[in-house]
Amino acid sequence: MISENIQIVREKIKEACKKSGRSENEITLINVSKTKTNSDIMEAYNFGERVFGENKVQELKDKIDSLPEDISWHMIGHLQRNKIKYIAGKVDLIHSVDTYRLAEAINIESKKKNIITPILIEVNVAEEMTKFGVRLEETEQLVREISELEAVKINGLMTIAPYVVDSEDNRRFFYKIRELAIDISRKNIDNVSMDVLSMGMSGDYQIAIEEGATIIRVGSAIFGDRNYSA
Ligand SMILES: *Cc1c(COP(=O)(O)O)cnc(C)c1O
Repeated sequence: MISENIQIVREKIKEACKKSGRSENEITLINVSKTKTNSDIMEAYNFGERVFGENKVQELKDKIDSLPEDISWHMIGHLQRNKIKYIAGKVDLIHSVDTYRLAEAINIESKKKNIITPILIEVNVAEEMTKFGVRLEETEQLVREISELEAVKINGLMTIAPYVVDSEDNRRFFYKIRELAIDISRKNIDNVSMDVLSMGMSGDYQIAIEEGATIIRVGSAIFGDRNYSA
């Protein structure tokens, strides 16, 4: 079932790229495997998927330790400063940086390990009370502050759009993130790139691709519903 789902998602990525004149190579699909078992992940892996995302440090760490080494792991969830040490150097990208204090803690841990950690700035594009992320109008200032840190590198922006029934309703939010990234990149801030836009989930990834996403994060459309009671 998982492999069939991946096939469908890959097909829809292709459609969205075609519709918007983009190349499939520009899009990275993150298989969001939170709450799912190692055997579910291995089914996706054996079907050819190599990029996986998790939102909890302990779960991510356990999976990194027990699954194939050629998996590219992404931390997509809210991160507590005292847990950075468990994942620094083990993930290819941290998507969820929304405060200077968090970036500073990542910087300290990265220096200790003698690495530079690539990050994205999480933007709360719809200004939802329940979501993490910096406000649109405060993003550039935060980017400027974080850009001074030597051992973190801002690669772009991430957003979690609202839950909607009609994915078209999120188009304007994806558009806003793209515009913001273009605005910031025009400022030519040292040590900052705006090449990566992580946006679009199971319900709206095609719209996100049409609006410029370079990374989509797809969970339930691949692995099925999540069971949090387990
Ligand atoms: C769970 C999660 C996803 C995937 O959500 P689906 O709707 O199941 O595709 C994407 N991004 C983040 C940050 C998540 O926590």
